[in-house]
Amino acid sequence: MARIVLATHNPHKVEEFGQIVAGARPDLEVVGYDGPEPVEDGVTFAANALIKARAACAHTALPALADDSGICVDVLGGAPGVFSAYWAGHRKDARANLDLLLDQLSDIADPHRTARFVSTIALVRPDGTEDVVEGVWPGRLAAVASGEGGFGYDPIFIPDGQPADAERTVGAWTAAEKNAGSHRARAFRALLPLLRGL
Ligand code: IMP
Repeated sequence: MARIVLATHNPHKVEEFGQIVAGARPDLEVVGYDGPEPVEDGVTFAANALIKARAACAHTALPALADDSGICVDVLGGAPGVFSAYWAGHRKDARANLDLLLDQLSDIADPHRTARFVSTIALVRPDGTEDVVEGVWPGRLAAVASGEGGFGYDPIFIPDGQPADAERTVGAWTAAEKNAGSHRARAFRALLPLLRGL
């Protein structure tokens, strides 16, 4: 049975990736990566995803998948971007990150609070060929955090295209709702044809 390695230690992502790979290629065995961690010193999501996927591919000699993601705020020129996980410092405190972002935007009126979640997935094969796909989820930032679900910036993100109750943040969405439309879901969809071609 052919194998593919996932370059992530995040169990939530291993499960999500595992399901999507199984859906596209049930004959492909998904294995976790436990080799050396590369320094993620890229300045774009794609660069960081490639760094992680290349390291896993080099260590295992298997095709490797890795992702990088974050939130990009228009009025901040795309920040936090690759700094999303540690916007308020390297202790990686999700609540502090979100509070700092809200504070920075406190004077910014609704029409200018546009933002997007981005998920970038790199696929690196042992023959040296590489592909990068991206999923973008546009929306805007709420004035205050709300909702008990999700993680990271979910409690302040209001996706575009919600028919009713436009102030409902992703923090109030079910996992199934989020998984159907999120940036990660969009990137996964773009990845499917590449998995089938492996
Ligand atoms: P990473 O891709 O695991 O490095 O995540 C980067 C950071 O982006 C996370 O720590 C979160 O702060 C943020 N982020 C990425 N995806 C999401 C999401 O789906 N919801 C909320 N925050 C997210």
